[in-house]
Amino acid sequence: MSQPTLDNIVSLCRRRGFIFQSSEIYGGLNGAYDYGPMGVLLKNNIRDLWWREMTFMHDNIVGLDASILMASKVWEASGHVSNFSDPMVDCKQCKSRFRADQIDLNGACPVCGNKGTFTAPRNFNLMFATHIGPDMDSASVVYLRPETAQGIYTEYKNVVSSSRVKIPFGIAQVGKSFRNEITTKNFIFRSCEFEQMEMQFFCKPNTDEKWFEFWRAERMKFYIEKMGIPAETLRWHRHGADELAFYAKDAYDIQFLFPMGWQELEGVHNRTDYDLTQHQKFSGKDLTYLEAENNERYIPYIVETSAGLTRNVLMALSSAYDVEKLEDGEERTVLHFHPNIAPVTVAVLPLVKKDGLDVKAKELEMSLREDFYAEYDQSGAIGRRYRRQDEIGTPYCITVDYRTLEDNTVTLRFRDSMKQERISTTNLSSTIKSFIKNYKRGQ
Ligand code: ATP
Repeated sequence: MSQPTLDNIVSLCRRRGFIFQSSEIYGGLNGAYDYGPMGVLLKNNIRDLWWREMTFMHDNIVGLDASILMASKVWEASGHVSNFSDPMVDCKQCKSRFRADQIDLNGACPVCGNKGTFTAPRNFNLMFATHIGPDMDSASVVYLRPETAQGIYTEYKNVVSSSRVKIPFGIAQVGKSFRNEITTKNFIFRSCEFEQMEMQFFCKPNTDEKWFEFWRAERMKFYIEKMGIPAETLRWHRHGADELAFYAKDAYDIQFLFPMGWQELEGVHNRTDYDLTQHQKFSGKDLTYLEAENNERYIPYIVETSAGLTRNVLMALSSAYDVEKLEDGEERTVLHFHPNIAPVTVAVLPLVKKDGLDVKAKELEMSLREDFYAEYDQSGAIGRRYRRQDEIGTPYCITVDYRTLEDNTVTLRFRDSMKQERISTTNLSSTIKSFIKNYKRGQ
């Protein structure tokens, strides 16, 4: 196994249609990316896997899709208007901009190497502002949400009164968030427009520590078991006193070993009753929860699991990427995605595109599409077609040859081991499902 560089990943993403720079024909827009045919499949698969995990596998979690634009008061209550800022400095020589907390202000500029050229740090609010309606005055200012969580807090009462959830319960949401980030290097790791997968778990005071531990364990298990990320590339980072938000009781980040080192992937935070208390204060609405059984009223505590979906895409790519030396001296680039998230699950390839092999293969592809995202490819030598599927991370390739027409068997090739097996086309979908269920990287 070889550890890829970020450049390796960027170049593969471009070559194979995963991710492109936004507005490229106009020189590109910093901090914004477009997901191509393979990228959108990968991103949607991760999103769906998370969504299923949260709302299907936990019977006390429901979903929400809140709007991106919210009343400005929301962000005053949450503290984002006054506090959601990063200290920013500019190099007076080369005009590069940095986050003051990420560089040595007495040292040399990381870009031009000049010393003592930084401006004094200025605080810079990360929220994008726009206006609703025709008047561009301060009364019409609205913000693009910098996180999805606040939509969940402001809707929690509606969810309780309109559905059957009872504490303890969670509300899950996936959606776009926007931050006017000062430094947007490292590809999609930190962008201005990105997606989050957040689940806010509402619980009774004094049970929060128990739920915090529960969700920490669940989230780590998800990455290892469902997404197939090797355990040794994931670790916990507990927030120290200098990082912990003043209202948080405890906070851990799940970090992944990205090509540029260990970095945050997801936060699991015990947010106490801070958020709902703030919204109760600013809105003047009663946001307490009533336990009908014993008439007890309280403001719920919240345990948050907050993951970046687009950052998960970068993790999936980094973790899967490998360049392997083959026995014949050639090299192959391969993405070892877990089949749960691979953009294409199965490719169907006719050995040659004549004598009815193409027709048979197309037929098989269409029937597999009822269960999986399948692809048909008839162009070029079979070896080259395998290489292309390896590069987009397709775990299973099915080859239709002359024998298929006689006995309805096909060759199944496994991406990781490159081993081939002759299998029947009867119940092909269930055969593939059982391989997916028992998938282990390398086999
Ligand atoms: P950082 O300290 O790196 O700026 P954060 O601690 O502010 O991040 P959170 O507010 O906890 O991040 O956001 C939760 C998750 O959302 C992060 O773990 C990350 O996966 C994702 N995320 C946050 N900001 C960005 C961004 N600019 N681009 C991509 N993903 C992001």
